[in-house]
Amino acid sequence: MKAAIMRGVKDVGTGEVPTPVLAPGEALLRVKACGICGSDLHTYREGLFPDLGLPVDGGIVLGHEFSAEIAQINGNLEGFSVGDRVTTVGIGANAEYVKFTPAFAPLLLPLPDHVTHEEAATTEPLATSLHAANLADVQSHESVLIMGAGIIGLGVLQCLRATSDAHVTVVDLSDKRLELASQLGADAVINARNADVVATVAPHARADAPLIAGSQGGVDVIFDCVGAPASFKGTTVLEQALTMIRNNGRIVVVAVFERPLELDANTIVRKGVRLLGSWAWEPDEFVAALDLISSGKIDRKPLISHTFTLDEAATAYATQDSAETAIKVVFTP
Ligand SMILES: [Zn+2]
Repeated sequence: MKAAIMRGVKDVGTGEVPTPVLAPGEALLRVKACGICGSDLHTYREGLFPDLGLPVDGGIVLGHEFSAEIAQINGNLEGFSVGDRVTTVGIGANAEYVKFTPAFAPLLLPLPDHVTHEEAATTEPLATSLHAANLADVQSHESVLIMGAGIIGLGVLQCLRATSDAHVTVVDLSDKRLELASQLGADAVINARNADVVATVAPHARADAPLIAGSQGGVDVIFDCVGAPASFKGTTVLEQALTMIRNNGRIVVVAVFERPLELDANTIVRKGVRLLGSWAWEPDEFVAALDLISSGKIDRKPLISHTFTLDEAATAYATQDSAETAIKVVFTP
């Protein structure tokens, strides 16, 4: 079968790999749509997270956020039959077929007819955003800053808009992404290329907190959906966040750092910052993410910026790597 094979850093091509062989109780899924994840991009750029790929001859096949049609079942799969439209989790879905292993059975979810395969393929990143939003437990009167308007940051915005009246500001370097953030309900957007984010958002906040807690301004909740690319020089988003956060505020980091950071940890201590790491999601959040899409509370269609076939694998990855134009690139094999 056809697959997008990652042979090395910035080296993705279309090739042939063996079609999965099914053990009893397993199903063969015909991939209908598969997104390129931020984590896939880190693998593409820096070789991080090779474990999120399926090893094949000459490289790995990435792809874990997808929707599919059941093509074949070896034996019986309770509640499902051939032809069913589904979404689930697994690896190696930048391919025509992927194997479903029943160990993940609770997460084989049927798709309602009105949910397209492309939308359904964004369930997994939405679950990641939902997990971050749940960790922050944002209240309606609070001020929120989302740093980074990629699929995860925009997903956090969508989750907050679905559940709260919090005042949400979104920061990015791309006007296209910020336009979309406004459409999706951001109260304010800032392009960090043209504006000093710290001076605009929290002019009275300071990194060196005064001794008396509470006597300082700042933002209630900040989501770092940027991290730091290996090539990055300067002040990271996390350092800016530590300056802008109020005393006892929450910073949720739902981003990846391609290199270690140097931080003044005293800021975390003196301001009593609750610094929360957020990686992936809980199974019930994956189910909730699909519910948010199928109920129409969250519309993921505007976030799908490009679709490519597997024959265009190299272009698809290069496009997702361009933050200026791409939000979510999806393979429709
Ligand atoms: Zn992902």
